[in-house]
Order: sequence, then structure tokens, then C-alpha cells
Amino acid sequence: MSTESHLRLIWLYPDLLSTYGDRGNLLILARRADLRGLPVECAEVRADQPVPSDGDVYLIGGGEDGPQALAAQRLVTDGGLHRAVDRGATVFSVCAGYQLMGHAFFAKGTKCAGLGLLDITSDRGETRAVGELAGECDPMLGLPTLTGFENHGGRTHLGQGVRPVARVTSGIGNDGASEGAWHGRILGTYSHGPALARNPALADLLLRWATGLTLEPIDDRWPTRLREERLSAVR
Ligand code: GLN
Repeated sequence: MSTESHLRLIWLYPDLLSTYGDRGNLLILARRADLRGLPVECAEVRADQPVPSDGDVYLIGGGEDGPQALAAQRLVTDGGLHRAVDRGATVFSVCAGYQLMGHAFFAKGTKCAGLGLLDITSDRGETRAVGELAGECDPMLGLPTLTGFENHGGRTHLGQGVRPVARVTSGIGNDGASEGAWHGRILGTYSHGPALARNPALADLLLRWATGLTLEPIDDRWPTRLREERLSAVR
């Protein structure tokens, strides 16, 4: 952890990328850290501001093609997120934010350069993937069934340098078979919802990556009810 042992959560470009409740990911992480007695500091960094490189967890959400292309350009030019990753920061990216972590993606019919932080490339599918998304997670992540909501035109292809987050059981995810990608402490997913409200174990995984701490269990009665409701909708 950084500054005076506060856990620093950085919500990137909420003015460009934040759809379907993605901001909730920041609130969930902060809340779950707080419940463990971890002091938290949240910062929202707009696209016209420099990206600090001393954060512990960076979050970036989904969005339409135009804002997504602009966000990618700015993040590449800024370089702060790359410096943070070099320091070992944790990154959680959703949908448009996930696609732009890769080598390239398509926005409004144009191929755009991504940040190259994940070994993935996105192109376009023939149809939009819209609806509930569920999958069984990579055993290496040690997570229960993933649940989310997806709405994207892109399809994502994984290179050798990443592992899928989940095997799709409902919805499309990357390509109808796999969903999301992760490497080191960088994880991307197509799940909105917000993803960390629906998947509290994933929120705790990010907190463990960022702090190296073992976290006490907390009362997850309400998230469990939400998960049961959403998962029963796709069974
Ligand atoms: N613009 C991207 C796509 O359509 C991402 C969409 C999103 O973030 N919901 O694939």
C-alpha cells in the first residue's frame, strides 16, 4: 500500500467510461476494505487530469466507442497507468476499459491502439452481445461462478500471455466460450452490474492482490441474495 499506508483506489476517467453502474465497483472495493479496518483513499481522475502512478488499485469502466477511443489515446499519452503497473499496481477493467487494456480494439469501424497491458486483441462481432453473462472461473483465481450484465459489440481474442477469467455458461463474454482475461494483477471482464457488487469474492481478490493481506470474511447476506437472483435468471 502507498501513502501513509492508505489503500489508494483510483477511478479512471469517470467522465468518459462508466456505464451500467460501473462506479459501484469503486464503492464496493472501498466498503469492503473499510469493513476490514483498512484505511482507504478514493480518487476520481478525469480524462483532462494526469493519472497518478502511486495508486494501489485502478478501476476503469465501460462506455461507447467514441469515449473509449479517446480514453485509450489519453491513457497511452499520459503513461501514468503504465508506470503504476510497472510498480505492481492492481487494475480492474470492465468492457470498453477491458478492451483498451489490449493491443488493439475497434471503435466506430476504426482500429485503435490499446495500452498493451494485457495480451488481448478485440475486433467486432456480427451482433451485439446484450444480456446476462455467467461463467465458471479459472480455478487459479479460486472464485465462485461469475455473474454480470454485458452489452458490447466487440469480441476479444486472448494471446499466450493471459488466462481467461471464466468459461462462459451463459451469454457471450470474449467470444461465446471464454470471458475476460487476467495476468499478474491486471484483470479485465465484460461484466457490468456492477461486477464487484455481484461478485464480492472478486472484489476481495483485488484487495488481496493490492494489500497482500488475508482478509476476514464479512457478512455477505445481501450480495449472496443478489447473486442467487441473477444466477437463477440464467439457469
Ligand atoms: N464500445 C465497446 C463495444 O461496444 C464497449 C462497450 C461497453 O463498454 N459496454 O464493444
